[in-house]
Amino acid sequence: MRVLLTGAAGFIGSNFVRRVADKTFDGISAVTILDKLTYAGSIQNLKRINHMDNFHFIHGDICNGDLIDQTIQDFDAVINFAAESHVDRSIYSSAEFVETNVKGVQVLLDAIKKSGRVIRFLQISTDEVYGSISSGSANEASAINPSSPYSASKASGDLVAISYYRTHGIDVVITRCGNNYGPYQFPEKILPLFITNLLEGKQVPIYGNGNNVREWLHVDDHCQGIYKVLINGKAGEIYNIGGGRELSNLEMTKLLLEHFGMDSSQIDFVEDRKGHDYRYSLEWMKAKHELNYEPKINLEDGIKSTISWYQENAEWWKPLKLN
Ligand code: NAD
Repeated sequence: MRVLLTGAAGFIGSNFVRRVADKTFDGISAVTILDKLTYAGSIQNLKRINHMDNFHFIHGDICNGDLIDQTIQDFDAVINFAAESHVDRSIYSSAEFVETNVKGVQVLLDAIKKSGRVIRFLQISTDEVYGSISSGSANEASAINPSSPYSASKASGDLVAISYYRTHGIDVVITRCGNNYGPYQFPEKILPLFITNLLEGKQVPIYGNGNNVREWLHVDDHCQGIYKVLINGKAGEIYNIGGGRELSNLEMTKLLLEHFGMDSSQIDFVEDRKGHDYRYSLEWMKAKHELNYEPKINLEDGIKSTISWYQENAEWWKPLKLN
């Protein structure tokens, strides 16, 4: 299978690429990465693989219809990791979010339609499209109810993708997951921001009272779920890639502080994020039963190895913190 990975110079995509290079995923023979290299993407994230024969890189924008029309012809599948992905940035300015997360999806799907070929389109989405959930968990049939411009743009991208399945019969599948963590995550997101702040002896800023709950999934478990959906997911279906642990931001922070041997004086409670969703939670039995998906990485072990990675790779994250 020849796969086009859009946005794979970012966090999750570059981890997926490394698993392909490690031969973790059978059946993917060649990979091309197409990435705009925004502030969140970097060739540095691909340095282990960019000399390898079966890997190619195109510097480009998924909203560029001509480029995408030409490129898409050569592939059997597209995994769309490309997105503007940071909720806080979407609160300050949402235009790029609508552009990449909605129009970009439409451009990719239009190119597939025009090609006349059967090309699987896997859209990487998020639990945030279901909105805040006070109790229970969202399954794939739950209503979407996004709160932030980021989650609204992702929900819109999902709807565009499903419409191309229903209207044009394009082979679309969608995955939705919780908060990913692991190596190469841009240090604006809560976990790498807090780890790198603590490594620098700085305080960590917690929004509001810190009781907001997120579901934490190691990026390798997420990539395993993406691969299973790519190979065996049913066209037109959505799969929640859940099974991460639910922790409040305060609980996650305390886990980090414990690891660093620090106390709660390192916490700076700051004004809450606008429209801050209280809790996300995924029901993921569809992926478990239909695709044999099961996350394997225990949270404490995953956090420990993630902290070690940031400790050992300061030359990667230090320049990014100046952005
Ligand atoms: P990221 O911000 O680390 O990477 C995004 C990548 O997309 C970057 O390499 C960037 O250069 C590229 N990109 C942005 N706009 C582009 C465009 N117009 N054309 C081509 N490339 C473009 O994001 P991530 O954390 O790796 O997330 C990947 C996907 O997973 C996103 O769709 C995101 O919404 C989704 N997701 C992420 C998480 C998480 O915890 N990180 C959770 C749920 C869902």
